Amino acid sequence: MKRFVRNGSEVWVGVLPKLGIVVYDPQSQVEVPADRVRLYIRDQERMANFAKEIVRDRLAESADGEDAGQFAESVEFYLSLRRRYTHCFSCKKCLNSFDFEVCDKCRWIRCACGACGCKFHG
Ligand SMILES: [Zn+2]
Ligand SMILES: [Zn+2]
Repeated sequence: MKRFVRNGSEVWVGVLPKLGIVVYDPQSQVEVPADRVRLYIRDQERMANFAKEIVRDRLAESADGEDAGQFAESVEFYLSLRRRYTHCFSCKKCLNSFDFEVCDKCRWIRCACGACGCKFHG
């Protein structure tokens, strides 16, 4: 994986077969079981847990030869989400502690409670 540091935050980027670019954020591993790892999937715009051993093997071999520009873009996008949404506006749950998706309509993170920007405005 490739390491990026932005504003003091460290994140790692790699590529998984079938899923594409994934971002590993050490700060978003809250409440993740020891044998799992939470990753942001760039193409699917969501956060999800994976079995650590599978991810570790596949990511280790994927870093070289990938598009550095795409990696950097994925980091910026992920961090912009994290900056904008640290907590769900509705249930106040910390967004570093659960898996989320991004709403297709409003482009906000959709919390596990179902809240997104559509509901914030409506
Ligand atoms: Zn919520
Ligand atoms: Zn929405």
